[in-house]
Amino acid sequence: MSQLKYCQGPKCHTYDTKDRKKGPKDNKRNETRRRSSFYYLNGNACSMQCQADWVDVYGARALQHFGMITQPRVLTADNAWRKSYDWNRNGSDRHYVYNYLTDERIPLTEDQYNNDSTIIDDQGRLTTREFYTLNI
Ligand SMILES: [Zn+2]
Repeated sequence: MSQLKYCQGPKCHTYDTKDRKKGPKDNKRNETRRRSSFYYLNGNACSMQCQADWVDVYGARALQHFGMITQPRVLTADNAWRKSYDWNRNGSDRHYVYNYLTDERIPLTEDQYNNDSTIIDDQGRLTTREFYTLNI
């Protein structure tokens, strides 16, 4: 069984919903939501509202803590690679890596498309051009 955790939205308890109500009739109170998993704020907030509340209160401090960029990030032909495919109703989809600045395409096998996470690094750079092997 997974562990329950609380929504990190600083105002979660202030939203008046039935599931937040706790306590006996003479001592009613609303509590922060507690779940095994959440969808927002990377799994830490119960709703978009609670996520936005967190960013309002802590976002600027988080930026200062982790560092704000002082130079623009740049997309060039070197880091503009993405996996893509052309769907074909006959089942023979064409898979490839695609550079959306130069329009260059390099074919992939379907297995490489689905299973090889090393073809493109997390910055969008192609790690090698030698990965494609033709299956005849
Ligand atoms: Zn919440």
